[in-house]
Amino acid sequence: MRIVHKYGGTSVGSLDRIRATAKLIQADLARGNEIAVVVSAMSGETNRLIAMANDIDGEAPAREMDALVSTGEQVSAALLAMELNRLGIVAYSYSGSQAGFRTDSSHARARITGVQSEHLIRHMDVGEVPVVTGFQGSDEHGNITTLGRGGSDTSAVALAIAVKADICDIYTDVNGIYTTDPRIVPQAAKLQEISYEEMLEFASLGAKVLQTRSVELAMRFNMPIHLRSSFEDMTGTIVNGEDTGMERAEITGVAYHRDEAKVTIQGIPDQPGIAARIFGPVADAGINVDVIVQNVSEQGFTDMTFTVPRNDYATTMVLLQGLCSEMKAEKVKGDDTVAKVSIIGVGMRSHAGVACKMFDVLSHENINIQMITTSEIKITVVLEEKYIELAVRALHSAFGLDADA
Ligand code: ADP
Ligand code: ASP
Ligand code: MG
Repeated sequence: MRIVHKYGGTSVGSLDRIRATAKLIQADLARGNEIAVVVSAMSGETNRLIAMANDIDGEAPAREMDALVSTGEQVSAALLAMELNRLGIVAYSYSGSQAGFRTDSSHARARITGVQSEHLIRHMDVGEVPVVTGFQGSDEHGNITTLGRGGSDTSAVALAIAVKADICDIYTDVNGIYTTDPRIVPQAAKLQEISYEEMLEFASLGAKVLQTRSVELAMRFNMPIHLRSSFEDMTGTIVNGEDTGMERAEITGVAYHRDEAKVTIQGIPDQPGIAARIFGPVADAGINVDVIVQNVSEQGFTDMTFTVPRNDYATTMVLLQGLCSEMKAEKVKGDDTVAKVSIIGVGMRSHAGVACKMFDVLSHENINIQMITTSEIKITVVLEEKYIELAVRALHSAFGLDADA
């Protein structure tokens, strides 16, 4: 089989971990597989680089930020290639650009436009191992770009597609995908498999175990992902196309996302086009709006409330203040201590009352729901951040997901 291995920060977090990772690659080669590797930076390194940059200038040029933060991956790729060579395996490290990752020019959130990987395939054909830095590529002018936090997952899936791998093995510090973050709920149960659709919801609703874009890409090209541990040798969770369960449980899992903020623009004279007038400038500022609620109009005035990533809170508030006076609205309010909890499951389509049960569980815990949004396979509520863990645990247990239930 041809396999792309991806190792996250903890799997290359120290020289000992790099040695252990090299052993995993060695064992897989010995099974007759052809392997290309994608690595993250050593754990904590990307944060350390960003902190240094912020100390110099909180608004450093995006191009220089990418030049800086992409270096973390280069260190781990070179060290891993050295260790593989020491074990007698011919291995070459490649930067994203050298590996053929072409992207657009949107620094810090670049999209991959193509992966020219013929040279990597030639290595794999003869049992050599290319070790590629995740998280990065270069634009048409040769500038280094990065793909957004957690982007090595996306690099790995893109590489797996480019080299026509049979599967993309993503090695991390948990031994699979769980019904919720096992760090918050120790009773979380491991899933043997999960459909792309559900994994996409899980990831986009906050389970950072896989970057959302990696799941989108895998889904589009039907590339199976095996999410597994680099600490213990066991099968993890397979993310693939099929929705396996016949009679599924009501929900598959619970996801949460902390760093949210909520803004309201109040008393807007209600007329056609107000939503576009608000969200146009917000989108132009590159801010991702999530949950949106517009109140019914009362005497010709309405309120619009929506959530944005907490990082964008200050910018959004400034923008809205401007819009408020322009649109002759009454005032702008904001709260940057909110979070999102979601329940997810393809089984939900055929199970009425799931939403009601969710609201009941939260009210029993005395947790106030501030906003609600639903899709076919998920229900999301916005609540005060301090209740996140309580909400996740209560929902996990009430929907019968606890492993010992
Ligand atoms: P890596 O550095 O290997 O990319 P990450 O820290 O990005 O690893 O992702 C792994 C982490 O994702 C786990 O340690 C776990 O705390 C978290 N996580 C969140 N939700 C889930 C989930 N549903 N199942 C498994 N892990 C989850
Ligand atoms: N090192 C990058 C980050 O910390 C990319 C990754 O780990 O996937 O976000
Ligand atoms: Mg990650």
